[in-house]
Amino acid sequence: MTPQIDPRAGAAVKAADRAHVFHSWSAQDLIDPLAVAGAEGSYFWDYDGNRYLDFTSGLVFTNIGYQHPKVVAAIQEQAATLTTFAPAFAVEARSEAARLIAERTPGDLDKIFFTNGGADAVEHAVRMARIHTGRPKVLSAYRSYHGGTQQAVNITGDPRRWASDGAAAGVVHFWAPFLYRSRFYAETEQQECERALEHLETTIAFEGPGTIAAVVLETIPGTAGIMVPPRGYLAGVRDLCDKYGIVFVLDEVMAGFGRTGEWFAADLFEVTPDLMTFAKGVNSGYVPLGGVAVSGRIAETFGKRPYPGGLTYSGHPLACAAAVATINVMAQEGVVANAAVVGAQVIESGLRELAERHPSVGEVRGVGMFWALELVKNRESREPLVPYNAAGEANAPMAAFAAAAKAHGLWPFVNMNRTHVVPPCTITETEAKEGLAALDAALSVADEYTE
Ligand code: PLP
Repeated sequence: MTPQIDPRAGAAVKAADRAHVFHSWSAQDLIDPLAVAGAEGSYFWDYDGNRYLDFTSGLVFTNIGYQHPKVVAAIQEQAATLTTFAPAFAVEARSEAARLIAERTPGDLDKIFFTNGGADAVEHAVRMARIHTGRPKVLSAYRSYHGGTQQAVNITGDPRRWASDGAAAGVVHFWAPFLYRSRFYAETEQQECERALEHLETTIAFEGPGTIAAVVLETIPGTAGIMVPPRGYLAGVRDLCDKYGIVFVLDEVMAGFGRTGEWFAADLFEVTPDLMTFAKGVNSGYVPLGGVAVSGRIAETFGKRPYPGGLTYSGHPLACAAAVATINVMAQEGVVANAAVVGAQVIESGLRELAERHPSVGEVRGVGMFWALELVKNRESREPLVPYNAAGEANAPMAAFAAAAKAHGLWPFVNMNRTHVVPPCTITETEAKEGLAALDAALSVADEYTE
């Protein structure tokens, strides 16, 4: 049941937002943010009584849904006991969060450096790699997202994000596998895997292996389109890193903590990086938290020598208490298994069935609760439904698609010509079916723009 809320209160919230909030990644005068009155589980609602099934998990972070009572209670209890404490002290919530995370990360990623979110986790992983190797360069993939701070935005393989910072010296991008848009070079996943590994090794050779500190990859690139890498790719990158003494960093900020139907996406591919970044799902985004899981070998570099980096709120007790409660909820309530089972049996099969009926769907790809539909004008040519970085009239087909989804009670994730299906990992079968029905209606609108 959506509580009755006064629409006038919503108007006041909206007016203050428009007057004073400077929004991320937006032209301030061209946006119209929804005033949100509340949220619970897989749903949120506005002040006019409209209720939406959230197929976005916020920005892919509410892996256990909104307002889980056990996590809310843990935050309240921590606030009552010890709201905050400086990072140099051992604090129960921090120690316990680190222990629970280290227990779940692959291999010997057993030391946890806490940050405030994902971008600063990437910044610190890269700093650790540079100091550990004594080398300057970082290699990362085009079609990736690693965060909005100076270094992380440069490591991000998307020119729309670089803005005035430009591409930083010392960051080199390469082409990771993406068969759907690589078909002139490869026809099978295996060929695409070989192409991508050969390209990476050539890039390493031309850049000079002795100059490269780290290869940074999202285990499954998320924001850029949920491109599940072919079997063998990440293991191949692991081998190349070992061969050339390069630190392998996997960014699990979006893919981690149950999203893929495993605790970490690295588990799907049976690879262990040297450093692994996380954020978002670690506590479902209830309080900002991120971190780097550090392998024994890299931790040793900083055994007798100080690590030159830190944050005032590193391992903030409120955020860590939320992480402890979230991880316990995930373990006790079978959230990871739910992502795998509802993901495969309802979401995946439902999306594949939609793709058969809707000509606007060019490709369905993903795993667990981590799916993307590539919307196209024409399935043969694979021309995207809207051009790269389209705005205004040029973006009309995606805008119409999104409006139709919302009219059917579904809040969709829309990124360029794609819709990502990334609901909470706790979503029920019934809710998932409800979302798929709304998606069906919205895709009929997208179909009108196909040729
Ligand atoms: N890395 C990845 C893979 C992400 O998806 C994101 C955010 O979407 C980030 C890093 C940045 O995280 P944050 O926005 O918490 O700084």
